[in-house]
Amino acid sequence: MIKLSDIVGQDDAVDRLRRVLSGERMPHAFLFAGPDGVGRRTTATALAAALLCENSGGGSLLAGEEPDACGQCAGCRLMAAGTHPDFHPVYKELAGYHEDSEVRNRKMQELGIPVIRSFLIAPAHQGSNRGRGKVFVVLEAELMSPAAQNALLKTLEEPPDGVTIILVAIRPELLLPTTRSRCATVRFGPLPREFVREKLRESKVEDGEADFLARYTEGSVGQALQLADSGIYELKRDMLSSVAGLGPGGDAELAERLAKETEKRADKAIRSERTPGAPELARTLAQRRASGDMLRILASGYRDALSVATGAQREPVNADQTDAVGALARRFPPEQLAEVIDQLGQYEQLIWRNVNIKIVWDNVIITCASAAPLGV
Ligand SMILES: [Zn+2]
Repeated sequence: MIKLSDIVGQDDAVDRLRRVLSGERMPHAFLFAGPDGVGRRTTATALAAALLCENSGGGSLLAGEEPDACGQCAGCRLMAAGTHPDFHPVYKELAGYHEDSEVRNRKMQELGIPVIRSFLIAPAHQGSNRGRGKVFVVLEAELMSPAAQNALLKTLEEPPDGVTIILVAIRPELLLPTTRSRCATVRFGPLPREFVREKLRESKVEDGEADFLARYTEGSVGQALQLADSGIYELKRDMLSSVAGLGPGGDAELAERLAKETEKRADKAIRSERTPGAPELARTLAQRRASGDMLRILASGYRDALSVATGAQREPVNADQTDAVGALARRFPPEQLAEVIDQLGQYEQLIWRNVNIKIVWDNVIITCASAAPLGV
């Protein structure tokens, strides 16, 4: 079981939580905000363990008592086993467990009212099983629909006794201001790059790849490990050298190959994210994520080229492919490189608006080859 004292690289956030735990007025609702993969979720679980620990925590510490879970009591043992009856993670895939078959069958891409009602509001109003309150952790909280957030407002404002709600979000600005204002916000910053590199090396990632991923993810160990696992490094080397060698007419075969690669990566994500009993990760969502990963990594090459072209003092992300970066910097003037970067971002938006993946990749390659304006 991970305790607050085990969290690495997030001293500000953890210190703040420990102060809160030792203080007199414990907030009922938190918003853990920060990039993906820097420990927000782990810290939320550690805070829950501290609150549900039967030897300490719960905002009722005696002088000198450590504001953390003890790791020994029955509550801590249940947390360690992942079976504590008063610890409730809330996530969109819970729709698969909903009593209403219509909710169950809809492949949810948002946290809608049915999930928030059945898995948060209703259980929050039932008593604590072990008498130390209840903790709810809402993952990807920005996926809550406005209606779901409105339904939750009253519970956030005045939760039943002993109930703590932790919203975990990458982009808290997408939440309604009324939701945000009811939470104590705790910010999580990026982890040191060397820390990320070390974690990757521990997972047997080779040095060149570890260096690239540590730079590219800017201190998100979770994201770096996930990208390493998805095998994106080989693909990024291939993509960057391919676009650097493109003629002005593009390359239909390359577009085709990248569209197929998107599908392959989406399939892989669906297979690895499948939870027993829960519905498959919605296929469209997986495709959007896969193409978003690829477009952003491609944009990183053009961003490096822009730095070279403008002589900016910035360490390149793709330091392992300076030839390809240099070729792009020689081919396009800075304003066209900036245009490509901007357009790659817009293609990602188009994919979220359901534009066909193959059509998007055809256009991406034309943009990469000529910095031509968007064709879709
Ligand atoms: Zn304990």
